[in-house]
This record gives sequence, structure tokens and C-alpha cells, in this order.
Amino acid sequence: MDADAILSDLTHYYTRMYGRRTLRTDTPFLSQALVHTIRDRLMERWNRTNIAFERADGRRACYLSMEFLMGRLLNNALYSLGSTDESSHALGLLGVELEKVLDAERDAGLGNGGLGRLAACFLDSCATLGLPVRGYGIRYHYGMFRQRIVNGFQIEEPDPWLREGFPWEIERSELARTIRFGGRTVTFRDEHGRTRHGLEDTHDVLAIPFDVPIPGYRNGVVNTLRLWSAAATDEFDLEEFNAGSYTEAVEAKNEAENISMVLYPNTATESGHELRLRQQYFLASASLQDILHDYRYRHGGSLAGLEDKVCFQLNDTHPAIAVAELMRLLMDEHGMEWDQAWGIVRSTTAYTNHTLLPEALETWPVPMFEKLLPRLLEIIYEINARFLDEVSIRWPGDNARLARMSLIDEGGERRVRMAYLAIVGSYSVNGVAELHSRLLREGLFRDFYELWPDKFNNKTNGVTPRRWLAACNTRLAALVSGKIGDGWVTKLDQLEALAPLADDAGFQASWRAVKLANKQRLAEDIKRRTGIELDPAMLFDVQVKRIHEYKRQLLNVLHAVHMYDLIRRGDGDELPPRAIIIGGKAAPGYVMAKGIIKLIGNVARVINNDPAMAGRLQMVFYPDYNVSAMEKICPAADLSEQISTAGKEASGTGNMKFMMNGAITIGTLDGANVEILEAVGDENFFLFGHTVEEVASLRENYDPGAYINADEDFRRVVGLLESGHFCRFEVGVLDAVIGAFQDPSDPWMTAADFRSFIDAQRRVDEAWKDTARWDRMSILNSACSGRFSTDRTMQDYNDDIWRLEPVEPG
Ligand SMILES: *Cc1c(COP(=O)(O)O)cnc(C)c1O
Repeated sequence: MDADAILSDLTHYYTRMYGRRTLRTDTPFLSQALVHTIRDRLMERWNRTNIAFERADGRRACYLSMEFLMGRLLNNALYSLGSTDESSHALGLLGVELEKVLDAERDAGLGNGGLGRLAACFLDSCATLGLPVRGYGIRYHYGMFRQRIVNGFQIEEPDPWLREGFPWEIERSELARTIRFGGRTVTFRDEHGRTRHGLEDTHDVLAIPFDVPIPGYRNGVVNTLRLWSAAATDEFDLEEFNAGSYTEAVEAKNEAENISMVLYPNTATESGHELRLRQQYFLASASLQDILHDYRYRHGGSLAGLEDKVCFQLNDTHPAIAVAELMRLLMDEHGMEWDQAWGIVRSTTAYTNHTLLPEALETWPVPMFEKLLPRLLEIIYEINARFLDEVSIRWPGDNARLARMSLIDEGGERRVRMAYLAIVGSYSVNGVAELHSRLLREGLFRDFYELWPDKFNNKTNGVTPRRWLAACNTRLAALVSGKIGDGWVTKLDQLEALAPLADDAGFQASWRAVKLANKQRLAEDIKRRTGIELDPAMLFDVQVKRIHEYKRQLLNVLHAVHMYDLIRRGDGDELPPRAIIIGGKAAPGYVMAKGIIKLIGNVARVINNDPAMAGRLQMVFYPDYNVSAMEKICPAADLSEQISTAGKEASGTGNMKFMMNGAITIGTLDGANVEILEAVGDENFFLFGHTVEEVASLRENYDPGAYINADEDFRRVVGLLESGHFCRFEVGVLDAVIGAFQDPSDPWMTAADFRSFIDAQRRVDEAWKDTARWDRMSILNSACSGRFSTDRTMQDYNDDIWRLEPVEPG
């Protein structure tokens, strides 16, 4: 672990394994050599952890997720092992800065946004708590696309993150599984005369696992993330080859490998792509086979007692097909009867919902399902028949309810409702924030809640304080630890000890100096990416997240235009200087979201080129927002924009990262904002906007025009937008976006919250002008962020759903 040993291994890998001589940080090889060096040091811990889990022979949890938005792993591993300083020293002896080497690592961008990042934070906390939890996902060849901005438009570029290799992973080809698609179902009698079901003439694909180590924080634990990669089976190739069709054999190979080729960028209503259904089944089947195989291996070839030793957490409905696949494996492959198999499914499967948008609930067309997974469709029909019996016993004659609750949507083209399959097959269904869980019970899942109230529970999301405070904001971490010790790294509630310092002028000054340094660093990054130079003294007003109408980046732009208008008309003298930073990716097929990016860029261009705005208002679109970007952004934010329409954001986790790093939230009563407000108190939060209930009642006869006409400021903003002021030589490009918030059918009710948002922003300005007051609010936000650690979230999952015993590797 000392610098000399690290240096020696590092040099070995760099020169002997990668065959490089000259030291360069503009290629990934030095960073990869350091990864190998560190991976070696994790390996023994990894083995010891697995041995400890085996010895304990306790219950284990499998976190099934189509997305793990891991970001970079090296800095976190160094930090968890406590070898940051020694590694930095070792590199120093070569004349290289650690930060440069860390920056050369590519992000593992195997996720879209919040849901995938949550899975990554969960893994970190489970390892730190010593919980036997394994992540199961897909090793996409291409992760989340990279975003380039050309002329204000988003351009997507592929992310070939594996091109130079991913030195963290270990291929475990001996654990490959066969995944069977298509074919037809057959029925036969086994040697005991029992009716059995099977499949014939399937198209098979190999699933090969690649394991990634997940180190806990200085506790000797290394957990596993197992990612499946698709490959053609040899038999499949050979068969075609012998038939004399070499090219078809190659095509079949491509088709097989396509399964893990690319992550789907989600479009709220993403449904119906056959390849996506293939991916879901591929993940579910490979993971379940792996778990059953491992269990039998360790229990003398038997599955007896399985239900006491494993549980599956489904991250949204994406892996919900596991409910039917587990039934198939237990019955068709392992000879169980329906009731026994169903008993196991229902006592091992738990489901987490992540959305309140009905259009985002996944469904699959029955014909596609039948063609791709014929046996699973039979099983789903049987689950449904038995389930609907249960419903009709409880509510005799209530046919409307039966149709509402059926796993098959019969209105129009018949479709399988994956969320309902997940609910019926699970013993626990949770939402991800208090408000979200309540709205699920009262809305989307009301019928199911009436049937099984005890299944439903809440597990408010969190973020890992290792990545999102300790490692990404080393200056603040050092300041905090200097005052209250470093126990907060694993017991985030201890940040409460900062509260008494909130009014201490000396502490405030240090706190402010840290924030300023972080803002300087971000400003340099922004200059490099966009050419725009921000003044770090300005209030950094930040909204970074996926671009989506419900998140209301549009509302943010309306405020920017209003500030611009105030300054131009000479009414802006009271406004403190502000830099508005917006970033995020739009799904490639989401036309409105792409229009919003264009609008942001155009408004920013006009503002930044207007001499009257100099030193008073600046605006940038931050390109290619991802995990590494957020690690620079959240330590540098003063104001955190969490402005979704109430009742639309399930939880949000960006809000928590900002809070931990001392940004103050301007937000609606939505998702986890409600709990942030409760934790920090309303004097330390800028609340605005209509509530869920108000949004619902306004909906009845919503008239955006009325809000605009009644409000001089709003009229002027709309006037500027419609005059073409922001698209002088691009006539019409912004029309759809400018029309969106004026449409009476606007589901996001942007216009209804305009006035309240503007007023809240002026309260922000007043607070900002009073430096001591702002510092106090900022310190208290960090101090009160303890409950938003995923250590707490994982403890809650474990107490109520998983019931695992932590282990301590010897
Ligand atoms: C935290 C995070 C998100 C989630 O942000 P929200 O504001 O909760 O939507 C998305 N993407 C990245 C890269 C993140 O780090």
C-alpha cells in the first residue's frame, strides 16, 4: 500500500502490460495501469468477502437493474481503500499529477440518469454496510451517448467506452449461461407421469458475466457488480455453417451480440422495441440462472430453502419479466409444481417503482411477447387467471375492476402490463420518496393497494456521501472533518454538529472560501467546454438533470428572459449578479426536449453578447452532463433548481447532492424536495409553486393565457420570445417550445407557476445579498442532509425488505 510498492506496480503495468514508454496523461494507459495496481490490492479483499458470505450462508440480495450509472471508479476506489495520498505520492515521483490521471478515466455511463445513478449509489452503501448484495446488469458496448452542441442543437455521438478496455472487469466465462429466445412451447409427460412444459427450436444466445469490484469504505469488504455480455453460441454458428450459409451464420452472430450492444436512451414513453424486450429477458434470465446455479452448487444440488436465502430487488419494471422467468425456471427446469414455485417467487421478489407518469409504465404488445417468449406468455396468462380469481372473490361482479387490474391491457392492441406483473409477483412494492409513495397508493396503484395494503411501503432515495461529498468536494470535506472529525463519512447524521457553527463568522468565511474555490474550478471547466467565462463571484444558479418537460427547464428559461428584460429596461439595479447554468441530455427522439436545449442556447447567446448584461447576468448550457461533470458541478452550486411540476418527479437525487454540498434549493413540493424542506426548515429553502392537489384542481379549466395577460412581467417575457428576439436568423426554430407553455393542454402547467417562481427568485436575491445569512443557510443545508445518505436508504431496505445479516470479512 505504500508509495514505493504502488510505483513499482504502476511502472510494471505501464511498461510491461501496456507496452508504453513515455509518460502521457492524454491517453488512458497510465490511468489504466493505476487501475490494475489498485485492482490487485482489492483482489484479496474481494476473495475474503466472498468467503465470508459463503461461510455465513445467510440470505443474499440481488439488485436487478438495466442501468448502473457508475461514472469513474478509480478515485472512489482509492478513497475507499485510503490510498489516495500514497498513489498521489507515487505519481508525484514520476512528475505526474493524480488529478490528471483520474481525469483520463472514462465514465462507465451504463445508465440514463437518476435511476441508474441510484443503483450505483446503492452498491457503494451496501458494500460499506457489509451487506451481501450483488448488482446484476448489462455490459452495454455503448453506454449513454455523448452530447455535443453544434449551433445550439444537440448532436448525439456514440460512447465506445470499452474501446481501450475496461481494466476493472474480470471475465468469468466459466459462468456463462444460455438464454433461449423464440421457438415454440411443447408439453410432455415426464418419467413420473406428470405434465411438463418446455421449449423447442429456440434461438440461443450466450450470456457471459463480467465482474466489477465494489469496495466498501475502509472495511475490507469488496462486493460484486455482475454485468452480462451477449455472445453467439457455438452450436448456433455451426448449424448455419454446415447448412452452407456462412454469411447467415455471421449475421446470426451479430444478432446475438446486438443484445448487449447499446443502452436505450429513455423517452418517457419508450415501449415496444423488440430489442429492448430482448435485453430485459437477457438480464433477468441470465441473473436468475446464475443465482439458482450458485445456490444449488452450495447446497448439494438442491433448491430446498431457496426462499430463505435469496431475494431480488427489481429496479423499476425493466427486469419485471424475472417474475415469469423464475416461474419457468423453477417449474420447467427444476420440476416444481405451480404452487411451490409461486410461493418462492412471492417471497423473494420485491419491486421499486420510479415514476408517476402513467405513460411511462412499461407495456409490451402481446404478439411480440408471444413470438419472442412464448412460454413466458403462457405463464403470465396463468398468473393472471389465478390473480383475477383472487380479485373477483374479493370484489364479486366488479368487472370494471377486473379489467383495470388485469395483467393484460385489453383496450386496443393487447399488451402486457409489466408494472402489474411486478406488483402481483412481489412481496414488497416501494416508492422512492414519501410523497411519491403516497401518490402511488392513491393513484396509479390504488386498486392494488386496496387489495394488499401491507405490500406497499416507502424507501426515500439517497446518494452516497463518499462520492458526492467526501471525494468530489475534498476542500469542504477537509474543512468539515477539521471541525467535527470524519465520522460523518459513514454516519452522515453527524453533519448535524455543523449546525452550531452556522453563525460563526470565522467558519462562514472558510465555508465561503471553499465554495469560491469550487466555483473557480467549475468556471475553468466551463471555459474549456464552451469558451464562456463565468465570474465565480456571481451567484451560481444551477439546473442539471435530464431534459424533460416535467422537470421544467422552460420555467427556468422564462426567469432568465425576465431577468434580461428587467436589466434591459433599467429595473434590474437591485439584482445581484447571477450565472445561470443549465445542463442535461435530451433523449434523441424527444423533439420538444431538444427544442428546449436550442432555446436555452439561443437565450444564453443573446444574454452573453449584450454589453448591458456584463457583470450582471450570464447564462450557459453545460454540454455532455454526466457523473464526472456532476462531481465538479455540485460542489460549486449556490442555488439548486428543483422545479418540476408537483406530483411528477418521483424523488430526485440531484437535489440531495446539491444540498449536501451546501447549495440552497429553490423548489416545488415534489418528490424528495418535500423531505429536504422538512429537514432544513422553510427559512432555509425557497419554496414556490402549486401543490399536487392544486395542480389537479387547476387542470379542470386551465388557461395559461389568463396568467400571461394578468402579469405585466410575464406579458413582456412572452412578447420578447414571440418577437423572434432570440432567433433572429433562425425563423420558427423555437415556435414549438414557445407555444408549449401557452397551450391550455400543457400538462406541466408552467405558466401557472411563473409568478410564484419569479417571486421566489427575488427572495433568493435578497438572501444572497446578505452574505452572513446565505452562508448560514448553506451550512445548515449540509448539516441537515444526513438522512439523504444511501447508507440510511440501504438500512431501511434491509430492515423492512431484505433482512440480511452484515458480514465482516476476516
Ligand atoms: C444525480 C444524477 C442524475 C439525477 O438527477 P435528478 O436531478 O435527480 O434528475 C442524473 N444524471 C446524473 C449524471 C447524475 O449524477
